[in-house]
Amino acid sequence: MNLYVDQELCIACGSCIALCPEVYDWNGSGKADVIAEITAELKDSAVEAKDICPTDAIIEE
Ligand code: SF4
Repeated sequence: MNLYVDQELCIACGSCIALCPEVYDWNGSGKADVIAEITAELKDSAVEAKDICPTDAIIEE
C-alpha cells in the first residue's frame, strides 16, 4: 500500500499525526506528509487516519 498527502487539500488539522505518528508528520510547509513505508504492522492505523481526514487529503495510489 502506498499513501500520500495531497498538499492542496491538507488543512493541517493534525488528526492523522495524532492518530498515527509512525506514518504521518509535519513537513517543512506546515502540512502533513507520509514519512514512513506503510508496513503490514502500520497499515490499520495508517488507513484509520486516512479515513478520519476531514478533507480526504490522504490518497491511496
Ligand atoms: S488529517 Fe488530513 S487535513 Fe488533517 S493534517 Fe492530516 S492530511 Fe492534513
